[in-house]
Amino acid sequence: MSRRKQIYEGKAKILYEGPEPGTIVQYFKDDATAFNAQKKATLDGKGVLNNRISEFVMIRLAEIGIPTHFIKRLNMREQLIKAVEIVPLEVICRNVAAGTMSKRLGIEEGEKLPRSIVEFCLKRDDLGDPLIAEEHIHAFGWATQSELDEMIAMTLRINDYLQGMFSGIGINLIDFKIEFGRLPITEGANAGGYQIILADEISPDSCRLWDRETNKKLDKDRFRRDLGDVTEAYTEVATRLGILKEANNKITPTLSVVSNED
Ligand code: 5GP
Repeated sequence: MSRRKQIYEGKAKILYEGPEPGTIVQYFKDDATAFNAQKKATLDGKGVLNNRISEFVMIRLAEIGIPTHFIKRLNMREQLIKAVEIVPLEVICRNVAAGTMSKRLGIEEGEKLPRSIVEFCLKRDDLGDPLIAEEHIHAFGWATQSELDEMIAMTLRINDYLQGMFSGIGINLIDFKIEFGRLPITEGANAGGYQIILADEISPDSCRLWDRETNKKLDKDRFRRDLGDVTEAYTEVATRLGILKEANNKITPTLSVVSNED
């Protein structure tokens, strides 16, 4: 494969210039980081699993009318996506108290929230992605009111859909983090403007997923909290979603060696 121009390297993904203008290749690494990158590890096979799981979720969400950046999966670790300007916000949706919400508000982990709650964090690694209020978003111009309204509406729709999807495979969706991007509109009455679309990824790296029967964590908290069997848990999620069927469940941690191959 020819060497492509790297645009950006994040903690878990690398972005390369895509084959056509307006496209990007998103490469899923095996690297895992937590606590603002103070904790790091390489988890063999994680990138392969997240690529497949995020592909699956993005396709399902597109089917219910959520616009996403996903175009197609290219190979085990890469997907072709639409180039967008990322809105500098992490949008978090919570159904059950856990993580920083439990710590911040003194609510025991596992307590069901009175309703789903949407929170915003500023995407600033150097500041530890601080929680912010809508007021900050307006005052500093990080998103317009209509962009914010769209992001909140889409987040709640995504939450509803994903809750049902995971419930169908015996998993409770505790919370998740998503990101949005601005896609330039090139045709029609709104040409010259931007459309807000779902970007980044949705995977066990960015969601809390607990087994319904046992409350076993099937997500990145296994890494953050040293619970072990991280890729096994991600494999469990992929298997329950039916993603690994055609590969005879052979996407195991050892498959990381097949990176960059179709
Ligand atoms: P918390 O604020 O409790 O740490 O996280 C809430 C939810 O958002 C969890 O599902 C967590 O995995 C996700 N999340 C929060 N910040 C990040 C982040 O910087 N990267 C990723 N991948 N997920 C995040």
